[in-house]
Amino acid sequence: MRAKMAAAFALGFAAGVLCLSVGLWWTGALGTTLRTEAAGAQGEGERETLGVAKTVHLAIPIAGVAVKDLTDTFNQARAGHKHEALDIPAPRGTPVMAAGEGNIVKLFTSKQGGLTVYQFDDSRTYSYYYAHLDRYAPGLREGTRLRRGEVLGYVGSTGNASPEAPHLHFAVFKLGPEKKWWEGTAIDPLPLFR
Ligand SMILES: [Zn+2]
Repeated sequence: MRAKMAAAFALGFAAGVLCLSVGLWWTGALGTTLRTEAAGAQGEGERETLGVAKTVHLAIPIAGVAVKDLTDTFNQARAGHKHEALDIPAPRGTPVMAAGEGNIVKLFTSKQGGLTVYQFDDSRTYSYYYAHLDRYAPGLREGTRLRRGEVLGYVGSTGNASPEAPHLHFAVFKLGPEKKWWEGTAIDPLPLFR
């Protein structure tokens, strides 16, 4: 008799544990789904309205330039592709400042961008890209940490920019999961200054 009761108890206990773990697994899975959906919605929000959950506020990287002075050049067509960046005209040699806080990840010279800087924000969510620089700020290195407003270089026309029209080409990329400086999805920088 006692053996039978013990067996029934053990069976009930096992069933209970099973129910509990299935329940935990289900709520866990549900939680993951909800988080993924929230993250997706957040990505959209940044691109569209920038709104709600995680917003980046950037400083205009050229001193004395106000939002009203900027022309939205993000959707302009350029040789076979969309521009996907903001061009800020300025005299050659005008200081270019970090739009946000973060480390310099790459100093790179390319045919199109000329002398460029890639900076990651501290959460490694975004990369800020500065191109056509005339020269870098003295002492600037990969790994240098910049605060918003610190000078990283000077406006120029290196790369494919017209020598008669020096400007800063500034882009913001949302980084992929592997956080590679050359991979990302371009975001319109203009609303990030507001
Ligand atoms: Zn440009």
